[in-house]
Amino acid sequence: MVITLTPDEGERYQGIVSLDHVNLAACLEEYFNQSEQLPTQIQLFANGKQAAGMLLQVLPTKSEQNDDFEHLSTLTATIKAEELFTLEAPEVLHRLYHQEEVRLFDPVDVTFKCTCSRDRSAAAIKTLSQAEIEAILAEEDKIDMGCEYCNQVYTFDAIDVAALYAGSHSNDAKQ
Ligand SMILES: [Zn+2]
Repeated sequence: MVITLTPDEGERYQGIVSLDHVNLAACLEEYFNQSEQLPTQIQLFANGKQAAGMLLQVLPTKSEQNDDFEHLSTLTATIKAEELFTLEAPEVLHRLYHQEEVRLFDPVDVTFKCTCSRDRSAAAIKTLSQAEIEAILAEEDKIDMGCEYCNQVYTFDAIDVAALYAGSHSNDAKQ
């Protein structure tokens, strides 16, 4: 399994995780423990209609916290699938950690995000030679540019490609 990470700053990078543990959660834990060196516990549940998960992780800025992590990990392991399916986050936190000091941040929805775009694909096409472009169009009638991260495909037909060059020519003329 390939994990792609896109930090707020710095280059996007990928980690490869072997699927040789008992379940997906254990494979992901192995990734964080080995590659990121962050003690991590992941629980994933699914019943065919719902999926829910919980991740317990030491923040990278803290170091001497392994005792705390083991204690919290033991508490976290007691969560039941049904509880994660039905309870709101504050209730889950209260049930698990009511004897601890808990700080709850505002929730952030999970969203799809990839830095690819049609414009970027167009820019890549323009790095090809005219002969290469004509050869692809002659064979396929179009140029498909696939994003290797999210699998989005951007399709350019002969008219689209001509428009790319028309645009760049008019820009050249202005200069
Ligand atoms: Zn993409």
